[in-house]
Amino acid sequence: MRQKLVVGNWKMYGSLAANLTLLTRIKEAAPALGCEVAVCVPFPYLAQARSVLGGSQVGWGSQNVSKQPQGAHTGEVAADMLIEFGCRYAIVGHSERRALYGETDEKAARKFDAACRAGIMPILCIGETLEEREQGVTAAVVTRQLNAVIAHVGVAAFARAVVAYEPVWAIGTGKTATPQQAQEVHALIRACVAGASTEVAAGLRILYGGSVKPGNARELFAMSDIDGGLIGGASLVAEDFLTICAATRS
Ligand code: PEP
Repeated sequence: MRQKLVVGNWKMYGSLAANLTLLTRIKEAAPALGCEVAVCVPFPYLAQARSVLGGSQVGWGSQNVSKQPQGAHTGEVAADMLIEFGCRYAIVGHSERRALYGETDEKAARKFDAACRAGIMPILCIGETLEEREQGVTAAVVTRQLNAVIAHVGVAAFARAVVAYEPVWAIGTGKTATPQQAQEVHALIRACVAGASTEVAAGLRILYGGSVKPGNARELFAMSDIDGGLIGGASLVAEDFLTICAATRS
């Protein structure tokens, strides 16, 4: 039985004062939510997340991680540094990083590996653009993105990882995949992993991300291969995020 997981991706938003209110509210509500909850915050706020959330049921993580273990890589942050701040998760391969910061399949695979080696669970984001969906190549794109990582780290690494299916056309646009559209791709992702290990596939949590809101979360989370959500915009509003978390209870 896979425990549902809801992760907030704060993107490049926040301030110490606003974070304190948000994190405190999430921490207080978490025990009654019935799912695992985590927030992925900008690097400078990891110390604050640890200080506010430490000892609670809410996990925290980063939105990126260097593929290098250490060295002369100005501006990068290594997985071993993230673990010092108590990170449970690190997002890798987010579509914004793929589109704006040159994150290729190969780089995402190396970042995934770096996180795993440090004991951090990577959240691998995969998903097609609108153009790719319209061309009918969604399955080919998603399996290519996934297989690039499986080929690099081996399927066993996915026993301690999370996959997020995030159709690029649904991120921050207000357009959500229908539960059926999302379920179809989630089932494909699980089948792709099952091709390498049925056991790993059965335990793998596959999150849906892309304009999840209080009004559409329940229907999405009710689908058999959707194990929770990666939430961007709505994770910045405490009551919206908590309502989405509570929607994992079917
Ligand atoms: C995201 O940034 O991963 C995301 C899903 O954003 P939003 O919920 O705002 O679409």
